[in-house]
Amino acid sequence: MLKLEVDSSKKYPIFISDGTDGFSEVTKYAKGKKIAIITDDTVDSLFGGTLDCFFNEKSVYKFVIAHGEASKNAENYIKILNGLVKNGFTRSDTVVAFGGGVVGDLAGFVASTYMRGIGLIAVPTTILSAVDSSVGGKTAINLDEGKNLCGTFYQPDAVYINVGFLSTLPKEQISCGYGEIIKYAFLSDTIKIEDLKGDINEELIYKCLKIKADIVHADEKEKGERKLLNLGHTVGHAIERLSGFSISHGDSVVKGLFAILSVSKRFYGLSDGAYEKALAVISARGHDLENPFSAQEIIEKIKCDKKSGEDFVDAVLIDEDLSARIERIPFEKFRELLQ
Ligand code: NAD
Ligand code: ZN
Repeated sequence: MLKLEVDSSKKYPIFISDGTDGFSEVTKYAKGKKIAIITDDTVDSLFGGTLDCFFNEKSVYKFVIAHGEASKNAENYIKILNGLVKNGFTRSDTVVAFGGGVVGDLAGFVASTYMRGIGLIAVPTTILSAVDSSVGGKTAINLDEGKNLCGTFYQPDAVYINVGFLSTLPKEQISCGYGEIIKYAFLSDTIKIEDLKGDINEELIYKCLKIKADIVHADEKEKGERKLLNLGHTVGHAIERLSGFSISHGDSVVKGLFAILSVSKRFYGLSDGAYEKALAVISARGHDLENPFSAQEIIEKIKCDKKSGEDFVDAVLIDEDLSARIERIPFEKFRELLQ
């Protein structure tokens, strides 16, 4: 079992294992007498029983949402809050987020707001949620007008990643998760191209989370350095939304990475040699790199997704040593660069 300590506004451990040893560790972080496991129907049918029995000294209540992004909504949020009240949950009890990023974001938002905040343990079951969304403290639900428009920053008490849970993921989910891992390869030299070509394992998850934890430690509220985690995401998010979410998040991020790599080469002095090396990293898992949308469509989408009224993007570019750096670029110029 590997253990990583996250040092943000709150310190908390992440346990990563491919056996059951981490379960008994993580249950120690479950505060109170009651546990609310929030999960989705797919994860529940695959692994529901596994988790329940580890909290057998507590009263366990389960809230099962339908799988899929559409469930990350206000209706489910309120339904779960009411369920917690009805079952007598107090501030000293704990929510367990058991599933992918949808469950994680919703359950995190529930935990952060129920009685102004109760215990939270994250048990991610997708690669994306394991290497990304379960750490960093962002919680959210979607509103009718858009994704993640309502949320909080709220750190869990502990995270437990059991690699065994990832073994049932369909190939689209694996591809999506690796999109995020490919991004990490540009944020630290600990992730090698061989790591990207192999199967998911404890060490690789550890490396990704260490990168994210270090960045979040330096900049929890995304004022500066945390923006590096947006590598591939500025354009990627636009592609994901323009496709009506038919192109997954991770697949869109890889397309976004490729677009940014081209910009870095054509306008910011990236040499042919560095470009080829970066391209090999981005292509390591055979993702389709083609972006089906025009620069105009992308820029319009970026503009309307902006949470603040800025007229520039903090684009994350790829440098000669294959690291990432932030460059502030006005919208109009960014559109020209993407053409
Ligand atoms: P998801 O939670 O919808 O999971 C994808 C699908 O995989 C679902 O159908 C789910 O039922 C299924 N699934 C989950 N675990 C499985 C398993 N072990 N075996 C088989 N199937 C399994 O999606 P996701 O890709 O995990 O997360 C996407 C969400 O995460 C988005 O809502 C996004 O906004 C959010 N997100 C949040 C952050 C953050 O920092 N909070 C970061 C990135 C993404
Ligand atoms: Zn992402």
